[in-house]
Parts: sequence; structure tokens; C-alpha cells
Amino acid sequence: MRFYNAPSPPPACPGVHATPSMNDRPSRPAPSPAADGADAARQALGWLHTARFLTTAAQLHQLPQLDLPEIAFVGRSNAGKSTAINTLTQQTQLAYASKKPGRTQHINLFALGRQGSTDAVLADLPGYGYAAVPLADKQRWQRVMANYLVSRPNLAGIVMLADPRHGLKELDELLLEVIRPRVEQGLPFLILLTKADKLNRTEQNKALQITRLQAGGGTVMLFSALKRQGVEDAALWLRDVVDDAAPAPDDE
Ligand code: GDP
Repeated sequence: MRFYNAPSPPPACPGVHATPSMNDRPSRPAPSPAADGADAARQALGWLHTARFLTTAAQLHQLPQLDLPEIAFVGRSNAGKSTAINTLTQQTQLAYASKKPGRTQHINLFALGRQGSTDAVLADLPGYGYAAVPLADKQRWQRVMANYLVSRPNLAGIVMLADPRHGLKELDELLLEVIRPRVEQGLPFLILLTKADKLNRTEQNKALQITRLQAGGGTVMLFSALKRQGVEDAALWLRDVVDDAAPAPDDE
């Protein structure tokens, strides 16, 4: 099994990834008082709550060309991706739209920002590794996904969801290989270890350590939709990615 890689990444989109490398990404001036942090998290969650369905595409060329930072969500099927997107956007059905018959193998885009002033896009990519999918469909999808991740010009960040009880599996690692060049060029990358409520503290720390080693870059966080663990940190990470990308004009 392999992810079909696309030939080469596009030149860095000016402004969209403004930083040289994930690891030495300058940290934003931290609002030190706890109240400021809570306020920033509240604002980030309020912004995420504006998410609404934008469009769906079965093939790359059907995606609209957007001059807005786009953050892709990827993960094995059943990793908890839909639940995480719904939790972050505080909507019950948004990402489940991606599970409707006919849309499971589509890239679904959600717009963020108040109506009339869209400032970013979330891209929900189809879950991979689902055993029941015919091989030809899997391969086609791996190719579309790899091409998307390597060549989407306005891609401003990638969030990978993984169930820490299983760790990063072969397809996750292959996908890491696909995105590594862009991450090394500075594309922000976050691994959310979902369903953290199923692990005790020791297991959580171990999962964090192992995943950090496996990822070899980017940020790793624990996340639980059930216990709302990591929700604010993930929301702040998403907001930071968009704030660090170039200010884009309205697309409406
Ligand atoms: P997807 O296929 O990656 O979109 O995964 P889903 O979001 O549909 O989640 C797969 C399963 O994991 C479902 O049964 C969810 O209820 C469960 N799940 C997702 N997030 C959590 C979580 O934070 N805690 C627990 N305990 N279960 C979760």
C-alpha cells in the first residue's frame, strides 16, 4: 500500500505560509494574563462556530480556487474526525454531512467568518483505511488526497486526527511522508490525538511522546470531544494559522 504522491509541491504561496519551519515558528506574543487567554479561546471558538457548508468536490479540479487560507482535516476512518470538527465548530451535524451517501469520497469545504466576510476555509477530506472500500476506490482517493495536500495553493495548515489507542498506522505514516516537504517548508501541522478520555494520564503522556517522535515535526495535542479536552487549544491553533496567513480579501 502506498499513497500516490504528486510530483512536486508548488512554490510557497506568498503570505499563506509565512513562517520558515514548523519547529522554529515564532510564537505569537502570548497574552500572559489568564483572562486574555480565555478571551482569545472564546473568540476563536466563536469564529469556528460560524462554519457553514461551502461546497463539495469529488475531484481536485472541481474545487474552487480560493484566495483564503484553507486548513485540511485528514485521518483514518473512525479516527474521530467528524466528531472533532463538529465539536470545534459547536455544530451537531456539520461534518456528518461528509458522511452522507455520495459525499463520503468528497472533499467538503466549510466557510468560516461572518456571512459576507469569509476569512478562511476548513477542508474535510475523506477518511482513509476503511476496509470495505474497494481497492480501486481507495487508490483513486489516496491519489486525490495526496495531490490535494501537495498542490493546493492556499493550503495554510493540516490537522491529522488519530486514535491514540492505535497510534499512527501505516496509512497515516505514508500520508506524513506526502506532506513532510510542505511541513518542512513551514506549513503548520497539528496532530490531534482523539478520544483522549479513553486513556489514563500515563497512557496519554506516552501517546504524546510516541506520536511526537513519529511525526518528526508539527504540534501534537490530546483531544477529547467527550471531555472537551484540548478543544480551546485546538481552536487557538486554528485561529493562529489563519492569523499568520496573509490577510485575504473577501471572496464574496
Ligand atoms: P470519523 O470516521 O473519523 O469521522 O469518526 P467519528 O467522528 O464518526 O467517530 C468515530 C467513533 O468514535 C464514534 O463512535 C464516536 O462517537 C467516537 N468518538 C469520537 N470522538 C470521541 C471522543 O472524544 N471520545 C470518545 N469516547 N469517543 C469518541
